[in-house]
Amino acid sequence: MMELENLIGGRHCKAASASFCDKLAPATGERLARVPASNHEDVDRAVKAAHAALHDDQWANAGGAARARWLHRLADLIERDSDTFQRLLAEEQGRPPIEMRMMDVPMSVDVLRYFAGWADKLEGRTIPTDGFMGRRTLNYTKRMPVGVAAQIIPWNAPLMIAVWKLAPALAAGCTVVIKPSEDAPIAVARLGELAREAGIPDGVVNIVHGIGAHVGPALVAHPLVSKVSFTGSTEVGRSIAIEAAKTFKRVTLELGGKAAQIVFADADIEQLIPVLTLGMFVNQGQTCAAGSRVLVHRSLAQAVETRLADAARSMRVGPPSDPSSQMGALINERHLARVRAHVQGAIAEGAIRLAGDEAVPEHGYFMRPTVLGGVHPSMRIASEEVFGPVGMVIPFDTEEEAIDIANDTPYGLSASLWTQNLATAHRVADCLDVGAVAINCWSPLDARLPWGGVKHSGIGRDLSRAALESYLEEKVVTAAL
Ligand code: NAD
Repeated sequence: MMELENLIGGRHCKAASASFCDKLAPATGERLARVPASNHEDVDRAVKAAHAALHDDQWANAGGAARARWLHRLADLIERDSDTFQRLLAEEQGRPPIEMRMMDVPMSVDVLRYFAGWADKLEGRTIPTDGFMGRRTLNYTKRMPVGVAAQIIPWNAPLMIAVWKLAPALAAGCTVVIKPSEDAPIAVARLGELAREAGIPDGVVNIVHGIGAHVGPALVAHPLVSKVSFTGSTEVGRSIAIEAAKTFKRVTLELGGKAAQIVFADADIEQLIPVLTLGMFVNQGQTCAAGSRVLVHRSLAQAVETRLADAARSMRVGPPSDPSSQMGALINERHLARVRAHVQGAIAEGAIRLAGDEAVPEHGYFMRPTVLGGVHPSMRIASEEVFGPVGMVIPFDTEEEAIDIANDTPYGLSASLWTQNLATAHRVADCLDVGAVAINCWSPLDARLPWGGVKHSGIGRDLSRAALESYLEEKVVTAAL
C-alpha cells in the first residue's frame, strides 16, 4: 500500500495535521493508498513556496527556452514511465489500461511538448498612437505570467487534466499549487516526482493532497494566488467562481456536460455505432464529453436503439487486471449509488432499460453499460449529468427539433452530429450552444484545439493557445520620446 506525501517547495512532506484519508481501489474496494489529509496550513505553506519561486532568479530569469527544455524533459520522463502511469491510473481509476495507453499518457506527453513550443514565443507588440501632449511615444507590450496558479483536478482523467493545466502555466512562467482529487491522487503525485527529476526548480510545482472541501476553499481564497483553474462539477465550480471574485482572481472553470450525439436520417449506421458506443461508455461514461444523449431521426431510431443495446450487452465489464475487460469500475461506492439512482429515477418516470441489468463482478463498484429507451426530453435523465455508463436514445422528426432538444440542458460543453450532408452538418454545428462540435466523429481532444464550454459548462478554455493566454497578462509600457 502506498503512502503519499505533499510536495511543497521541492520537499516531500506529510500534512500538517499528520492525518490521512484512504484511497480505495474501485475494482476491489480495498485500500490502495493513504493520502495526506491537508488543511489551510499546508495550503498556506505551498502557496508561499510557489510565490517565492515565482520571484526566485532560477525561475524568474530562466527565459522561455529554459522553460521549454524543462517541459520537454518532463514529457521525456512520462514517456519513459509510460507503463507505470498506465498501471497507476488503471488501479486508482479502476479503468482498463488500454484507455490510458491510447489516450491519457500519449496526450499528456503531446500537451507538454505543444506548450514547450510556446514557452520562448511570448512576444509583445509595438503599438503606434498619436503620442502624449504633443510628444511622440514608444508604446510596447510585454507578456507577464499572472503569478501563482491554483490548479484543482478531478478524478476522471487525473494525469491528463493535471498536465493540461500545468503545461501552459509553466510555459507562461507561472508557478503552481496542484490539488489532486482525493479519489485519484496517485498518478498526480508521481507527476510531481517527475517534475523534480526533470530539474524544474523547487517551489515551481507544489502538490497539496486532501479532501476537496478542506483544501480547495483555502487555495481559492489565498491572497497570493492570482489564478484558479478548476475542472470538476458545476456545483463546486459555482462556489469557486463566487469565492474567487472576492479577490479578483482569474478563473478557468471546466465543468459538467450533457453532450448530444445527433444522428440524421442519411447517417451510415454501421460506421457510427462503434463511435456512439465509445462516446457513451469510454471511461465508464465518467467523461465530461460523454455523448449520453443519442438523438436519432425517427426513421433510424429503432435500428440505432437495437444496435446500441446489443453493443452494450456485448461489453466485457471487469477489473483492470483482466486484459479482456472493456469497461472497468466506477470511481467509488457513493458515485455508483448516485448513478444507479439516476437510472431508477428515469425508469420511474417511464424510461425502459434496453441493456444494463446483467450481472457484474461481486467486488468493486461495477455497473453494466446501460441503454435507456422511451426517454422524453422533459425527463430529468435527459438534462442532468449522470457521469456514468448510461446512455439514452431520443427520437426526433426535424432538424429544428433536434437542435432544440440538444440545446435544452443547462450544459454546453460539446456535441457531435452524423450526416453525409455538408450543409446540414455546418448549419447544425452553428446552432448548437456548446464549446466544441464534432462532425462524423466524437470529441477529438487535441493539444492544439481549445477545450471548454458555454452556459453551465464553464468559463475559459484548456488546451491550445487560449490556455496559454489565460496564464498571461499583457502589460503596456509607454515612453515619451
Ligand atoms: P468535483 O467537483 O467533486 O471535484 C473536483 C475537484 O475539486 C477535486 O479535486 C475536489 O477535491 C475539489 N473540490 C471539491 N470540493 C471543493 C471545494 N468546495 N472547493 C474547491 N475544490 C473542491 O468533481 P469530480 O467528481 O472530481 O469530477 C467530475 C466532474 O468533473 C463532472 O461534473 C465532469 O463533467 C467534470 N469534468 C469536466 C471536464 C471539462 O473539461 N469540462 C473534464 C473532466 C471532468
